[in-house]
Amino acid sequence: MAASERPSTATIWTQRQRSALAGGAAAFGLRLGVDQLDRFHQYYDELISWNRRFNLTAITDPDEVLGKHFLDSLSCVLAFPPGDPQSLALIDVGTGAGFPGIPLKLALPGLHLALLEATQKKALFLSHVLASLGLADTTVLNGRAEELGQVAEYRERFDVAVSRAVAELAVLAEYCLPFVRVGGRFIAPKKTGIEEEVKSAQEAISILGGKLMPPISLADPTRQLIVVDKVRPTPRAYPRRAGLPPKRPLGRPRGVAMGPR
Ligand code: SAH
Repeated sequence: MAASERPSTATIWTQRQRSALAGGAAAFGLRLGVDQLDRFHQYYDELISWNRRFNLTAITDPDEVLGKHFLDSLSCVLAFPPGDPQSLALIDVGTGAGFPGIPLKLALPGLHLALLEATQKKALFLSHVLASLGLADTTVLNGRAEELGQVAEYRERFDVAVSRAVAELAVLAEYCLPFVRVGGRFIAPKKTGIEEEVKSAQEAISILGGKLMPPISLADPTRQLIVVDKVRPTPRAYPRRAGLPPKRPLGRPRGVAMGPR
């Protein structure tokens, strides 16, 4: 969309937000140029514009999108494996409107990105945004983690899997670890104070070939990054068929669920 055709919301993403985004990203060691800031701005406009027709996000205030979507997404880089972050193959499982995957790609254009999303209308939005922002080397996978995790083309092919606000950790581990190569990493931005959820995911993580690492604290004390290293291949039986992981989380007596986050 040309700047002149942008919806009127374009005007509420101000210079102040651009500076706050640049400053927040710099705190994660990411330097955003003018073009990159423009693309974040454009992504914001697309999000707000499509959100009028489709329910993509409850968060629309520019400062909140900046903090809770853009910067929270970018925080994942603090848990990236050592080495050049530009060339990583990264999958975002249950990306919704593109979080955390798209902000990471905007900040690190060399990423080989796959955006996995079960809902077709969200996948449609994602394809539109990728074309509109001119993002290369990015694939939208419209499907369920339980199914694509069993497809050879995607199984154990990624250096990093990220996933935010999709499921409790034991379930997320079953969705994400099958995609990660041995030596790679699974990163989940989560709220703080979830020790019980983490503890009750430990057995699942181990069964799936993962090793829970110490969490990474963030400047925002309400947020943290859960980090799981992939140390062994995931047994073939996982992920189980669609719907089973949340219904019967691994390593848990039957019927004990812990809620979505
Ligand atoms: N990660 C985004 C969206 C969170 S909402 C954010 O942080 O804003 C959770 C999203 O995960 C929804 O869009 C839902 O369709 C998707 N989802 C849930 N279970 C899934 C599964 N098993 N496979 C693929 N996508 C899934």
